[in-house]
Amino acid sequence: MRIVLLGAPGAGKGTQAKKISDKFGISHVSTGDILRSELKNNTELGMKANEYMKEGKLVPDELIIEIIRKKIEKESREPEFLMDGFPRTFVQAQKFDEMLAGLGISLDKVINIDVDEDELIKRLTSRRVCHECSGICSINNFNSEDEAKCPICGGSLYKRKDDDREVIKERLKVYEKQTMPLIDYYSRNGILFSISGSGSENEIFERVLTLL
Ligand code: AMP
Repeated sequence: MRIVLLGAPGAGKGTQAKKISDKFGISHVSTGDILRSELKNNTELGMKANEYMKEGKLVPDELIIEIIRKKIEKESREPEFLMDGFPRTFVQAQKFDEMLAGLGISLDKVINIDVDEDELIKRLTSRRVCHECSGICSINNFNSEDEAKCPICGGSLYKRKDDDREVIKERLKVYEKQTMPLIDYYSRNGILFSISGSGSENEIFERVLTLL
């Protein structure tokens, strides 16, 4: 299976990607997670990427394409994957298609998770991430910040710096301008499937499963 998850920040791509990769055993590739881990390890790539991430801007295409190229080359000859947060621009989508064509393979499906803007802002401002397992949850599920623990592994939680209200606004603008056009791109290729991203994680997962 070769799948791309499309959707605005906060649409639930990361949460659904984890569920899909657990169920089908395919590798979950999150460019955001890769960049955050590079930053945590103070690598040159991580520090360079952080200049863009902290402002809610996209990291330059050539850096991202290189990350994906290395990832794909490390896999088997006919890699299977679930992309979360990649591609995010036309250039990335085109280079990705070329990369796959070079391996004699192509994408099976692009699943677009659709959520309205007010809901996205609510989700992102209350989102917390686990230090240990990168699991995602909402602070609204707890009585206070002090009580909050990862529901998956019990690890401590943090708020992503780019989940700050001003940065969120920029990320949503960037999404609309640079990533939304990919809906059309994949639709023209006949591989785009859109689902509503409202409701509980499991309700959304049920919708995803009907497409897989
Ligand atoms: P995410 O975790 O997917 O929300 O990504 C967090 C941030 O990482 C984004 O706001 C971008 O700055 C950067 N990033 C992640 N994926 C990409 C990508 N495919 N292209 C450019 N920047 C990216």
